[in-house]
Amino acid sequence: MTRAAQWQRGTCWLYCRRTDALVAWIGPVHVSGGTVPMYACPDCLNALERMAYQRLRAQGPHIHRRAGEQR
Ligand SMILES: [Zn+2]
Repeated sequence: MTRAAQWQRGTCWLYCRRTDALVAWIGPVHVSGGTVPMYACPDCLNALERMAYQRLRAQGPHIHRRAGEQR
């Protein structure tokens, strides 16, 4: 993983669900009641990135973005 991340102790919102893991913010989660920050540990981030790369390879170089989406 090469991205610069700010790590902190907290709950991993991805696959392992550990509650005292080293986690980094990975993005907002939009639910019907609002938007909350989502955090994940390095192991789960790696798993997520593997899935994302597989998806990118499968669908080619064009990524669909919603209008107005910011990074
Ligand atoms: Zn995790």
